[in-house]
Amino acid sequence: MNLILLGAPGAGKGTQAEIICDKLRIPAISTGNIIRAAVKEGTEMGVKAKSYIDSGALVPDQVIIGIIKERLAADDCKNGFILDGMPRTVAQAEALEEMGVQIDKVLDIEVADDKIIQRMGGRRVCSACGASYHVDFKPSAKPGVCDRCGGSLIVRKDDEPATVLDRLKVYHEQTEPLVGFYRQRGKLAVIDSDTIEGTTAAILKALEA
Ligand code: AMP
Repeated sequence: MNLILLGAPGAGKGTQAEIICDKLRIPAISTGNIIRAAVKEGTEMGVKAKSYIDSGALVPDQVIIGIIKERLAADDCKNGFILDGMPRTVAQAEALEEMGVQIDKVLDIEVADDKIIQRMGGRRVCSACGASYHVDFKPSAKPGVCDRCGGSLIVRKDDEPATVLDRLKVYHEQTEPLVGFYRQRGKLAVIDSDTIEGTTAAILKALEA
């Protein structure tokens, strides 16, 4: 099963990717996590990507396409994968098609902008493994500590309020056109729920269809 999670920043793609990958036993691939790890390690790609990610802009398509080509060639993707945060532009979606990647379903998690802005203040991520948390909606068992790996939880630099507004603008201009792109191909399922559990249930139902 090859899946794409589509949705604005803060819609819950990372949270749902973590839940569904455990249920379906396929890897969740977050280009954001891959880039953040490269920035932390100071690799050549990380150094180039840092200014884009910090300002809330998109990293250039060619960089992303290179990352995803390499990642999808790994053995653990043989039985399927969940793409979280990729594609983010029509050019990236076309590149997947050109690579011969067959997508079974695109799950579009729809959340209104005002709710996204409310949510972002409480978002935390693990500085070691990238797992997602929220102080109210998905707290870790021990405050500030990742349940999965024990890493410390931090506020992402690009979750600051001014950058969130920029990221939403980028989403509407560059990523939202993918809704029509995948609807046209008969792959789109719109997921509309207010809670983490409700969203998971709606996704699992859409996957049965
Ligand atoms: P995310 O963790 O998915 O919210 O991604 C964080 C940041 O990483 C984005 O704001 C972009 O700067 C960059 N990024 C992640 N995925 C992509 C992508 N598919 N295309 C372009 N930039 C990306």
